Amino acid sequence: MAEELRAIAWESRADAYSENDWAEIAARLQKEAINLLANRVVDIVIGYARSWDGKRATPCFLTDPSQAIRLIFDENCTHNLAKFLVGPDGYLTAPYRLAKKRPRVALVAAPWVLRTVVGLIQEHQITREDVVLLGIVDGRPIGVEPDIRVGQVAPNVEQEAEVERRIQALEEMPVIERWQWWDEQFSKCIRCYACRQVCPFCYCEQCIADENQPQWIERSSTTVNNRVWHTIRAFHLVGRCIGCGECERVCPVNIPLNLLNTKMRRETQEAFGYVAGTRVDVPPALFSFRVDDPDEFVR
Ligand code: SF4
Ligand code: SF4
Repeated sequence: MAEELRAIAWESRADAYSENDWAEIAARLQKEAINLLANRVVDIVIGYARSWDGKRATPCFLTDPSQAIRLIFDENCTHNLAKFLVGPDGYLTAPYRLAKKRPRVALVAAPWVLRTVVGLIQEHQITREDVVLLGIVDGRPIGVEPDIRVGQVAPNVEQEAEVERRIQALEEMPVIERWQWWDEQFSKCIRCYACRQVCPFCYCEQCIADENQPQWIERSSTTVNNRVWHTIRAFHLVGRCIGCGECERVCPVNIPLNLLNTKMRRETQEAFGYVAGTRVDVPPALFSFRVDDPDEFVR
């Protein structure tokens, strides 16, 4: 596959592109999708298409070169498409798909998708060779080199600064007030699990939240039960969440999950010097230990 890709790849460096040139990126994606499907390098291309309202974007799954015209890329393309690779229904892991034949997949990979692929490789869900990455970079570490670079986007620094500002405001609150503030947020949760369903790192076959023998997490959406659910989920994602923000975007009651996840990411970086999604050659922070760790529990 590597040879075929080299033959058709766009040669270029990230800085050869204009940032956020949506039409140019879409044109490159369409051209590459046609090449990959027509030359049978892959069976399916997963990307973004325009939604029913003519504005928003929606994931699309192309199997024929004639469908490539549907591919778009712009500021509405926020979904973390790596979600479709893994888990009980994932193209690369679903038992019913594997029983037939494992499809060869190409993925439109924005920076957050590239960082997710790094995490999924580290966690042995996929290998680098399993997927052709049509990469869109942002000038920051991405941990994995795309097979074909199709463009460059600018990081959303205003949004990042706003999240940091809100975290700082929370940190400045007395602990009891902060606790109450989070309880207020969690009390809104209706336990629809959209945040879990959209997250590529929630690929467990059986989520602890769905188990009932034993029932680790009560299902009714009381404040206490919701607090347990969100605390367990936050810890499950420590050192793994790459900060795509999809869980917050899909939450129907606007719980600010980004604040929680970003704070946990920052803690992981400060404690272990580890940033999820930026290095494929090191184990994730909580998957490793040092024998000279000063804490006794390691020995
Ligand atoms: S998406 Fe929002 S409402 Fe639904 S379970 Fe997650 S936090 Fe709760
Ligand atoms: S931001 Fe949310 S959806 Fe994205 S990786 Fe982190 S926990 Fe998952």
